[in-house]
Amino acid sequence: MKSVKKVSVYLVPLLLILLTTLIKVNMTEVLGNRTPFLLYTTVVIFATWYSGWLIGLITNFVCILLIIYLFLEPIYSFSFAPRLWVHILIFASQNIFLSMMGYALKKSLKKSREAESKLKLLLEEACDLLVLRDKSGKATYVSPRVFEMTGYTPEEYIKLGFDKLVEPEYLEMFTGKLNLLLKSPNAHDVIRAAFKRKDGQVIWLEGDVYNYLERPGINALVSHIKNVTVRVKLERQKDEFIGIASHELKTPITNIQGFTKLAKSTLYDKPEKAKAFLDRSENNIQRLSRLVNDLLDISKINTGKQTYHFETFDLSNLMEETVQSFALTHPEHRFELINEPNALLKGDRFRLEQVIINLIDNAIKYSPASRDIVISQQIANGRSVVSVQDFGIGISEEHLQAVFDRFYRVDSSAMKFQGLGLGLFIASDILKQHGGNLWAESKLGEGSRFSFIVPLASLAAANADTDGSSYFKNDSISVSYNALQNWLEVRWLGYQTRETVETSGLIILDFVKKTQSKYVLNDNSLVKGNWSDSSDHGGNIWFPMMAAAGVKYFAWVLSEDKFSNMAAYKSSEMNKSDVLVRFFKEEAEAASWLEEVKSELEKRSA
Ligand code: ADP
Repeated sequence: MKSVKKVSVYLVPLLLILLTTLIKVNMTEVLGNRTPFLLYTTVVIFATWYSGWLIGLITNFVCILLIIYLFLEPIYSFSFAPRLWVHILIFASQNIFLSMMGYALKKSLKKSREAESKLKLLLEEACDLLVLRDKSGKATYVSPRVFEMTGYTPEEYIKLGFDKLVEPEYLEMFTGKLNLLLKSPNAHDVIRAAFKRKDGQVIWLEGDVYNYLERPGINALVSHIKNVTVRVKLERQKDEFIGIASHELKTPITNIQGFTKLAKSTLYDKPEKAKAFLDRSENNIQRLSRLVNDLLDISKINTGKQTYHFETFDLSNLMEETVQSFALTHPEHRFELINEPNALLKGDRFRLEQVIINLIDNAIKYSPASRDIVISQQIANGRSVVSVQDFGIGISEEHLQAVFDRFYRVDSSAMKFQGLGLGLFIASDILKQHGGNLWAESKLGEGSRFSFIVPLASLAAANADTDGSSYFKNDSISVSYNALQNWLEVRWLGYQTRETVETSGLIILDFVKKTQSKYVLNDNSLVKGNWSDSSDHGGNIWFPMMAAAGVKYFAWVLSEDKFSNMAAYKSSEMNKSDVLVRFFKEEAEAASWLEEVKSELEKRSA
């Protein structure tokens, strides 16, 4: 493209000279003798315009030579009457003058076009959306950004008009503000309203609107518009939170006022009653102080100012003490504690206690119709896994992850139970600071289990025992090759974390490759709990790897633990590989299924 343009710079003036000369030579009779001067002037102006100064000057010179040679007496010679010098000089200078003007005009036009497009680009890029309106309020220009913001093209946006775009409940306010602005020259206002996008989604737009209708050169109502949906949502969340927080704070204060009054009035006559009132007042003071502490924690987490005091302590003692104190204060509940001793941990005792209290508090709060709460603290691979299980209202899958977000409360429970939606968020942060993790398993209507894992002070690598080819055992798994049956036997032990599931999975894979096993007997009966996220890993990554290594049949013996089984079913559901997975309650059933499919396969291949 560039080379065509380069050639045309020379070619166009040349062709014009030739064409003009041909016309003149052949049509002198019709055009008369003076015409060449005029025609050649046009050629020079055009050549300068199109090809620049130098080519313009050369064209001018060539044209003068042609005129002298072809049209001045005596023709076909470069000599001419001396009086004609004047004509030639006038011709040459008029050409130079006119082309100079043309050239300057071209340059200034180019410059102003460039400036205009730069300004337009700047306006369109610098502000989110630019809308210009005439004095009737109708949009006359809408910048292209409107498409990403609303899904409408500028043309569609203009055609629809604001009455179709603004959400009905905000239309009156929008029209009122716009009309007021239209009537007030040079006035400015900020208009914020909800709009409906083309896809039906509601967004919030905020415009800085200026009345420049009487400003020469602009003559428009100029709106610079931003999408403020995120800000509006945050503001609403904040308002909602302030409402909830005030209510949550007010309830214990009112209770304290009431109980104190009652205690005062019964202090002398019925001291027993007065004590009971004071006890209830004290409970409310504790609740109040917890709420205030949560609020302080949130602000410290936000500003990164949360401080921790690490010391070495025994987590099993802390569990014992905390559960005991809950048993005293909540006699209506039955607490079962499974607690492994000697869980020495380097951490902030007070903060970890806060986490445990929060989990047990929630277990009590969200199981109004059930008494049992099972708490456990078990050691696995140098880490402690703490779980609090209730049999209460449970949480549906769609809300399960979000409960760890700040301010998040499941809608159905927010109405019935007190709370700020901060406890789990704070607990997650505390555990992160201890190199740990918090997760939840739950089924709506059946209950929940919240668990966390923290590294212990003496985090030692699990000692593995293996012969390298057919046998392996560590704290979380044992793998052995059954040469008689020609299958691999895997036994998972105790608590499983994402890490143990992933590393053990790789160990099994290694043994599958070494022993060329097509069949796996996978026994989970000794599993006490597992990391719920590991089901994604199992289904999406591990099973396809096992299939690629040659595994065809996978007999899965279920655990006693219902959440582990939920994770097992989930990873089988997610399994897109050719490995056929079957679940069994007993190891014997699993083994007989494997024998069956094995003989079937052997028959087929024979
Ligand atoms: P709060 O309990 O103060 O609302 P949390 O952060 O402790 O705040 O919990 C967040 C949300 O998670 C709760 O509002 C509730 O909907 C849900 N939740 C927490 N624990 C449980 C539980 N054991 N059973 C059912 N839902 C729970």
